[in-house]
Amino acid sequence: MKRVKLLIIGSGPAGYTAAIYAARANLFPVLFEGFYTGPAGGQLMTTTEVENYPGFPEGVTGPELIERFRAQAIRFGTEILGEDIESVDLSSAPFKVKGAKTELFADAIIISTGATANRLEIPGAGDGEFWQKGVTACAVCDGAAPIFRNKPLYVVGGGDTAIEEAIFLTKFGSKVYIVHRRNELRASKIMQERALKHPKIEILWDSVVVSVNGENIVKTVTIENVHTKKQEIREAGGLFFAIGHTPNTSFLKGQIELYPNGYIKVFNGSHTNIEGVFAAGDVQDHIYRQAVTAAGSGCMAALDAERWLSEKFHQ
Ligand SMILES: Cc1cc2nc3c(=O)[nH]c(=O)nc-3n(C[C@H](O)[C@H](O)[C@H](O)COP(=O)(O)OP(=O)(O)OC[C@H]3O[C@@H](n4cnc5c(N)ncnc54)[C@H](O)[C@@H]3O)c2cc1C
Repeated sequence: MKRVKLLIIGSGPAGYTAAIYAARANLFPVLFEGFYTGPAGGQLMTTTEVENYPGFPEGVTGPELIERFRAQAIRFGTEILGEDIESVDLSSAPFKVKGAKTELFADAIIISTGATANRLEIPGAGDGEFWQKGVTACAVCDGAAPIFRNKPLYVVGGGDTAIEEAIFLTKFGSKVYIVHRRNELRASKIMQERALKHPKIEILWDSVVVSVNGENIVKTVTIENVHTKKQEIREAGGLFFAIGHTPNTSFLKGQIELYPNGYIKVFNGSHTNIEGVFAAGDVQDHIYRQAVTAAGSGCMAALDAERWLSEKFHQ
């Protein structure tokens, strides 16, 4: 079976950046970009304009930015396979990995499989409907877009993230409504107080969004009271899901230390508890979750892997 120096699992900004650095350091990385686990290229493939990635003053679309990352990784010799990794055996080195078609041994591994933003499956919110046409899962990324300016905006969720996103959106929307299915929030006391005191935020208690409606872009949302089942159609410029992310780590269970929420634990830069296994990007970051932070941590993982490989194998 083929043995590689460095295997990279996942193809978002973290994986491609790791590949660029590793390929330029002659580590001949092999990168599995995923197939069924999500769009190859990661979360940015699901968005339109990216306006906060440095170096693109006019903005760039998510797919174009990813295409540039990918081309740069290939330019320096990264081998890219369009497969998912189905299982890994990290109990001894070299590590054995099994892809959908390919099996190989790797001296070192960078895991950069990202996370998936949770969405509600309600009419109007899906791909091909109003997803990225007023419906999104990242206020920091998309909130400043012109379509949300001076319009009533709706945030679904009840935790700290939902409140942070709502407060952020008050800069742009005419009013921000937090739609919460219960009559109390999960968020910390301090965040709750901020939301309750904010003049532009209103909480719609015991309520759920049952559909998103519009023409080309979102125009209204239908809100239902969970007790009375009464529905109301309300004007809306946008709907933001803030109901958490799921890190793509199910294939790692029992192999590596994870936090209870499924994110990979890293120590000292990008090192995991397994020597020779590194993690980068959203799969180990439930706080910042931005393309630029994912890319930065991909760089860190490649440098950490390079140092570790040269100490271990004196190469
Ligand atoms: C709608 C939306 C808009 C956004 N807009 C912005 C923005 O404007 N600016 C910004 O900075 N950030 C934005 N973000 C956040 C940004 O996309 C993420 O922070 C970034 O993509 C994380 O990069 P990553 O490399 O860690 O992982 P991801 O982008 O999640 O990529 C991980 C990749 O790994 C693959 N994978 C998963 N499991 C496996 C496996 N077992 N085997 C092989 N491959 C696997 C997946 O298919 C995926 O391709 C947005 C996110 C969303 C959802």
